[in-house]
Amino acid sequence: MRLAVLKERRAGETRVAATPETVKKLIGLGITVVAVESGAGLASGYPDAAYGEAGAEIAPDAAAALAGAAILLKVRAPLAAGEGEVDELSLIPRDTLLLGTLEALGNPGRAKAYADAGLQACSMELLPRITRAQSMDILSSQANLAGYRAVIEGAAAFDKGFPMLMTAAGTIPAANVFVMGAGVAGLQAIATARRLGGRVSATDVRPAAKEEIKSLGASFVGYEDEESRAAQTAGGYAKQLSAEFYAKQAEVVATHIAKQDVVVTTALVQGRKAPTLVTEAMVASMKPGSVIVDIASDAGGNCALTVPGQAIVTGHGVKILGYSNWPGRIAGAASALYARNLLTFLTTFWDKDAKAPRLPEEDEIVRGVVLTRGGALVHPQLSQAA
Ligand code: NAD
Repeated sequence: MRLAVLKERRAGETRVAATPETVKKLIGLGITVVAVESGAGLASGYPDAAYGEAGAEIAPDAAAALAGAAILLKVRAPLAAGEGEVDELSLIPRDTLLLGTLEALGNPGRAKAYADAGLQACSMELLPRITRAQSMDILSSQANLAGYRAVIEGAAAFDKGFPMLMTAAGTIPAANVFVMGAGVAGLQAIATARRLGGRVSATDVRPAAKEEIKSLGASFVGYEDEESRAAQTAGGYAKQLSAEFYAKQAEVVATHIAKQDVVVTTALVQGRKAPTLVTEAMVASMKPGSVIVDIASDAGGNCALTVPGQAIVTGHGVKILGYSNWPGRIAGAASALYARNLLTFLTTFWDKDAKAPRLPEEDEIVRGVVLTRGGALVHPQLSQAA
């Protein structure tokens, strides 16, 4: 059994899907060859030599890594014809188990291409958010680091300080930090901003989030009504709410945000564009030198002025950091956790006797992630669309 790890070629992708630590464990499972494409880990701090020491075979290019492979680990979807310098998809042997953040639901045609290529493709971002799946949950591991990194970058861009600084020359007050959206990324952002000494408040629409915000020592700011008390889906995600609710929420936020120094936005509604929570008028109400860090930028952004992929300064001096791929900005740790998530998935669905993966069709986790099998589209959300 040969497993391949490719260099990520999509623009701005700095992570890698296996680390020397997980390579060792993959070999421990009985995988005979772990082939790592040369340079795959370089951008996240894992050189070829470290993979070699862990027992990997270093392949000179994608074709060499993939020849004879039965499993392929990726961070992002493999490049297809016309998407970049290498048509990775055409190099993957039929029947290969492909694990990655494949984003197939939002990219029509991608899953069909996997079916045509005869792959068993798993879109790991579709993993159900259930307790048993927690240790394989790539969304959580990556969001957690994104929340941390966003605060670190927000603090660096803020030209005062986070803690109250008492010096012989006078006192610098603590920064007011406001976190919008208190899911995995937001809760880590709150904790990080508190550790740095900021005065932290936060908002969310899900009722459960209020207690979580308070338990981290931040104050809750928000509008609540009957609608918001039922704002959580069975899967734990926020629901899309009415225009009336969002208007009321915006009123509360508008008065609060004018007094904030650093605003970190993380709000997402599954399957939709990120909600606009910070309007142009709200940005205009903030003091010059304030910073908005928009972690939701890849989903369109929570701030009306965010330019996805860029850091900008507004005409009156508010900085808006709208970088793409926040986990990729802390690539060493993000790769380490992502690689462990994939390893846990493989270990969970590993047939020890056959020394091969076995993904039972009836398993809730497997049903959640498998897009294609035996040349067919099998994911419920894809078969509905087809
Ligand atoms: P997410 O990334 O989908 O969204 C981030 C946050 O934005 C959420 O807390 C959401 O409620 C909030 N939000 C949406 N609209 C908003 C608005 N208008 N104003 C303010 N906030 C808004 O969320 P996530 O971090 O993926 O977490 C989603 C849920 O899944 C949470 O309940 C979390 O506890 C749960 N979860 C469970 C597991 C598990 O059991 N395995 C793992 C991770 C997360």
